[in-house]
Amino acid sequence: MKSFEGIAASSGIAIGPAFHFHRGDLHFERHTVTDPAAEWARLAAALEAAQRQIAEISARAKAESGKEEADIFEAHALMLEDPDLLETMQQAIKGQSLNAEAALQDAAENYAQILETLDNEYFSARAADVRDVASRVLRILLGVAESPTAGLTTPSIILAHDLTPSDTVLLDKSLVLGFCTVEGGATSHTAILARSLGLPAVVGAEPEVLEIPPGATLALDGGEGTLTLEPDEALIADYRTRQQAGAQLLAQARKDAHAPAITRDGHRVEVVANIGNIAGAAAALEAGAEGVGLLRTEFLYLEHTHLPDEEEQYQAYRAIIEAFGSRPVILRTLDIGGDKDLPYLDLPHEMNPFLGFRAIRLCLARPEIFKPQLRAALRASVGGNLKIMFPMVATVAEVRAARTILEECRAELLAEGQPVAENIEIGIMVEIPAAALLAERFATEVDFFSIGTNDLSQYTLAADRTNALVAALGSGFQPAVLHLVRNVITAAHAEGKWVGLCGELAGDPLAIPILLGLGLDEFSMNPPAIPLAKQIIRALTLAEAREVAQHALELDNPQTIRAWVKEQLVLYQ
Ligand code: PEP
Ligand code: MG
Repeated sequence: MKSFEGIAASSGIAIGPAFHFHRGDLHFERHTVTDPAAEWARLAAALEAAQRQIAEISARAKAESGKEEADIFEAHALMLEDPDLLETMQQAIKGQSLNAEAALQDAAENYAQILETLDNEYFSARAADVRDVASRVLRILLGVAESPTAGLTTPSIILAHDLTPSDTVLLDKSLVLGFCTVEGGATSHTAILARSLGLPAVVGAEPEVLEIPPGATLALDGGEGTLTLEPDEALIADYRTRQQAGAQLLAQARKDAHAPAITRDGHRVEVVANIGNIAGAAAALEAGAEGVGLLRTEFLYLEHTHLPDEEEQYQAYRAIIEAFGSRPVILRTLDIGGDKDLPYLDLPHEMNPFLGFRAIRLCLARPEIFKPQLRAALRASVGGNLKIMFPMVATVAEVRAARTILEECRAELLAEGQPVAENIEIGIMVEIPAAALLAERFATEVDFFSIGTNDLSQYTLAADRTNALVAALGSGFQPAVLHLVRNVITAAHAEGKWVGLCGELAGDPLAIPILLGLGLDEFSMNPPAIPLAKQIIRALTLAEAREVAQHALELDNPQTIRAWVKEQLVLYQ
């Protein structure tokens, strides 16, 4: 028996034989061509063929696992039509006489790398999409067949270096018990797809998993992030019991996804979604979201090669707000700068970008960027339930300055005869320790807080969230972070204000009892996490959660805290 560690990506248990997933060899030579026009036509034909393949896979994804997966492929189809990407490839072929394979690879890789440099798991996942689309076209150009699972004949645990969304969809699900990949993070697409297919998955595993002999018996625990080679009888028996219990819990959670999250003693909390675009809005509604706790508006800016104007933003925000009707949508103003660079903004190079010119700091200094966004948001507020939230707030002065600009925008719009909703709630993200420590002062300035534990953890522990060497140190389960969360909730409640949390912690089943016990009012998470989160809340009483939280906050480290909550959750099932 030997265990391998990875990142828990999709909870559940699988026991079965190992199957190695190998993609065909996409090797090609880079060379110049004598007839660039014919070469471009060859690439154009491959792009069209790829579009047809994607349409087929998308239909299959929709039938098998729902709209969210189909949306991924619709996004793939759109990438193939991206004017910038097409222009770059055309330039390389017609301008430099480069062969189609090289032109495609260069353009896609360049685009993927730009997305990867943005400190955001959402956009890193988009980089994987770009590579997925490019390898599809490359396969067509090179005539490599798409069947890396030819030998898969019995239900198996799939081991792979990485799995793209199309790899995942093309797999015959009746033969897949779970996934374990070396690449990927908890919010990579493999993880998202695995969760929505209800398949256990471990990502970011030790590379040695690729050396496991094919057919060897494996036990996969997606909730713990472990893969065991040749498990003994006792482990198998334990896994089988947990497998049954987990399956029952999830089935019930999905059935009740649209019901409210009320504890056994009648305490109701809101469970809402983190989204980045209109496709996310649809996924959120389907998963049972009661609104949007975090609309990351960066997507609009990153999708463009220019600053999106007020009208473009208005249309995008309105579509999302309308989709949610009377349910709340919290729009977070632009969180860009530092390492999330927008090439067209010409931002200065910084030594410590996370401690630099980011988010509200940049927006306050550049009203020509900030005001169109605020005007667009205010215009889109009519007929919906919009709330506005400022990111990366460190001082009370910043909140006041941002509110002043917002009021200027409102006054301008009203003077122009443009309607604006009344009583729009204004909040801040609490993601810098300075704001968490003085939460009682901030509480008098705003209507609500949303705690951003992704950043709050990295700033509290001084551990760069993008640096794998220290990322584990910056866990949201660190006692110091949990103490700050408690401080923020207590301070807000003393002023009669409500508190949400939109970092990854809110959707973590082991964090939910603690956050509930600390008095959190709103839990905002990636849509697939919603059904189980609601179910966990329903399984507890507020009194039980308070006890869990109180004890958890006395423990010393993230591991003991997680272990403690896990024990308690079993008791409450
Ligand atoms: C956070 O910091 O917790 C957060 C939700 O914001 P982002 O991950 O977009 O920085
Ligand atoms: Mg943040």
